[in-house]
Amino acid sequence: METKVNFTQQEEIEFIRGLYTKCNEDLDKVFMLHKENKDKLLQELALILLLYKINNNVMNLSYSEKSEIKEKFEKLIVKFTGRQVKLTDSVITSILILTVKNTFKFYGYKYTLEEVKDIVNRKYKGKFYNERIIRNENKVAAYLNDKVQRFINGNIDVNTIKDNIEKTYKQNKDNVITLAETELSRSENLAFLLFAKSIGIVEIIRNEVLDSRTCDECESIHNEVFNIEDAPDEIHPCCRGFNTILYSDRVED
Ligand SMILES: [Zn+2]
Repeated sequence: METKVNFTQQEEIEFIRGLYTKCNEDLDKVFMLHKENKDKLLQELALILLLYKINNNVMNLSYSEKSEIKEKFEKLIVKFTGRQVKLTDSVITSILILTVKNTFKFYGYKYTLEEVKDIVNRKYKGKFYNERIIRNENKVAAYLNDKVQRFINGNIDVNTIKDNIEKTYKQNKDNVITLAETELSRSENLAFLLFAKSIGIVEIIRNEVLDSRTCDECESIHNEVFNIEDAPDEIHPCCRGFNTILYSDRVED
């Protein structure tokens, strides 16, 4: 089937790459909040060291002091978790809405807002993205509470807990990026497939060479042709492969 499209392969690659660039720029807001919260936790720790008795960097507290500090940290962590969930959800939601709208616009598909919402709110591997955000943040909170408890009980020293907090936030950042890129890939793909089906496309081609981040496994299916019903969805989020129309009918530059 002859399909005329008004973009080049290079323009399409740049379009897809641009979606990820924009996504990562938008996530900076989330990471600024992470940093703010992490710094506040570290400040609270520093304050405790000044206020209470420590021996060789290890806490030595009475029972009531322990409960007091534990409660203080639990409240802080609950507050930070709530804010991080809220902001991450709102930033990822706008990234996905924009991704779907821009994909439709790029391919020239006349979309309705219902179609945009339907794609954004679709589950991926049985879970909605907001469920994943909550689950990730709760894990981080549980981990931080556990480390604080150990520190208060004198089981770990101050340098260890500082290190734990830094590493947790680093891991949380990676989790947010992976989640956002996975959902971006899912949304872009669903928008593309809706467009492709609307113009009667039956076969799609896989593109896996956005840049050097593609792994060998993903690269091995580059240029492979699939029936549209068997189109691969995202295999590895960071490889960022995508489906496209057979290039033979295209206007090449
Ligand atoms: Zn891969």
